Amino acid sequence: MSKKLTDEILELLWSMKEKGSKSYKGLIDGIGDKNAHEVMKKMEKSGLIVIEDDSVELKDKGLSRARDLTRRHRLAERLFHDVLDVDMEESEYTACEMEHFLSPTVTDSVCSFLGHPPTCPHGKPIPRGDCCSKYKHTFKPIVMQLKELEVGANGRIVFIVPSEDSRLERLSSLGIIAGSTLKLKQKKPSFVVQVDETTLALDSAIADGIYVKQL
Ligand SMILES: [Zn+2]
Ligand SMILES: [Zn+2]
Repeated sequence: MSKKLTDEILELLWSMKEKGSKSYKGLIDGIGDKNAHEVMKKMEKSGLIVIEDDSVELKDKGLSRARDLTRRHRLAERLFHDVLDVDMEESEYTACEMEHFLSPTVTDSVCSFLGHPPTCPHGKPIPRGDCCSKYKHTFKPIVMQLKELEVGANGRIVFIVPSEDSRLERLSSLGIIAGSTLKLKQKKPSFVVQVDETTLALDSAIADGIYVKQL
């Protein structure tokens, strides 16, 4: 059985589950591979999925594998797109390759280095790993939340995870965008950063979504 096609199907099923869809046809259309039907029959036999009429769903075994694949894929996107500055299309392609061979330990290291990002660059949730809840400082992260930076330190913004009340357009008009550098002036009672010549106070909800690399 094609392992790669199996993985692609599992991953697509995970995204469909996020959207609340179980459509067999939707899956087949999304995969666009003539071997999909046959591979899915085998996947059902090995207990990864269950197919019923026109719906298809992940079983526990398939669910945990799909979750791991999605986690690796979305973390790889963050790594390539935000840290290594690879364009979105190339990041996506590389992420698709990487998700098949990253070991669980390496995956958790990547997650830690990136400051345990909650979402991928497309805004989709990254399934949490053991590393995200355990003591966080096993590795010195490359990327960290703004609040982890020491007062007085300089950082470059690597990515921003928008919160409900942070409006990215407004932030970008203030110079808070990926790639710009800032100096953390104060954490309490509110976050104050300096971007270029401008000093800005930030709500903590907004500050929480700003991930930086210390300079
Ligand atoms: Zn993504
Ligand atoms: Zn983590």
